[in-house]
Amino acid sequence: MKNLVSIAFVAAPVAVLAGLYGDTPDAKHAWAVHDWNRPKPVKVEVNEKGIPSDAIVLFDGTKESFEKNWQSEKGGKPTWKCENGMFSGKEGWGLGSVRTKAEFGDCQLHIEYMHPADTKSLGGPQMRGNSGVFLMGAQYGYEVQVLESYYTSREMEGKPGYVDNYADGQAGSVYAENPPMVNPQRKPGEWQVYDIVFHQPVWDGDKLLHPGSITVFFNGVLVQDHWEMEGQTTHCKRRPLKPHPKKGPLLLQDHGCPVNFRNIWIRELPSRWDNKTHSAMSADPEKVMALRRETAARLFAKIADPKAATAANVKALAEVVSYANEGEYKAAFDAALEAYRAKPGDKKEVEDVNKALDVLVRNNVVPASAKLK
Ligand code: MG
Repeated sequence: MKNLVSIAFVAAPVAVLAGLYGDTPDAKHAWAVHDWNRPKPVKVEVNEKGIPSDAIVLFDGTKESFEKNWQSEKGGKPTWKCENGMFSGKEGWGLGSVRTKAEFGDCQLHIEYMHPADTKSLGGPQMRGNSGVFLMGAQYGYEVQVLESYYTSREMEGKPGYVDNYADGQAGSVYAENPPMVNPQRKPGEWQVYDIVFHQPVWDGDKLLHPGSITVFFNGVLVQDHWEMEGQTTHCKRRPLKPHPKKGPLLLQDHGCPVNFRNIWIRELPSRWDNKTHSAMSADPEKVMALRRETAARLFAKIADPKAATAANVKALAEVVSYANEGEYKAAFDAALEAYRAKPGDKKEVEDVNKALDVLVRNNVVPASAKLK
């Protein structure tokens, strides 16, 4: 990695780094490649428990945190028991599921669960520690299955303890759709960890633009690799995707089995589909151009004397027109370039200006004839 960094610096001398360098903005990109004007990411700190500073902690082990953030499926005080730093569903139906009071859409979710060490079947393989992480609630939600599945791997077949089960219903599956790629589950009595990245389907009215996706790391192992949803979670049947509200609660399923949960946090994720100036997939050319004009105006305002026939001025204006080659920007750039062409600097300086012009030429912002001799 270190080598790559130093190679990048060798290939990109400091003199050109802050100006025109990478391919210019276009109809689908508000920023150039390697654009130094592009806003930098916000800083996030990760604490000693591994929780990012921008995460919403949904359960920190305390009863206060449980009652503050969770409720029963039908509303009201959560029905599950909270003690010893975890909350738990119990054997037998009737508690109902629990769900968060807050609602979420696209998210990164961290959640830990444990099946009691003496977990056994309460009626078939789907009654061994069944619960489920329902993203966006149960009604139109998407379930990442929670189940005791340590004894279900194919290597266990024929050995003591083996439990046969259907693959698309074991732990780490997108229930009824896609089995986990491998089975990294630990034994009952040990804590299991899911780290999930979820993007809901994207609709334009009734037209599906993208089916959304679920990525799951199960005890640190990738088991769902950006799985694009085929439908909404159900049992036995295939239920096609359909539009629904953009937010829903996180729901943990009551399936009549005792399962314990702890350490739950969530980060809401921006949808690339809501960002109309980022990514060729979802960018709106009009909004891209509006942002390009904003940047051009900001850079133009920094130029003390746009009429100065200096190399620095030509390069600064070349950068401005890379965002918006129009109106006063184009006029100022053309005038400064012609003034500089009439009275150019030394060979080295001209080469330097030509490097900036090269970027504009190769991106068809200006014709090749714009270059200096
Ligand atoms: Mg389930």
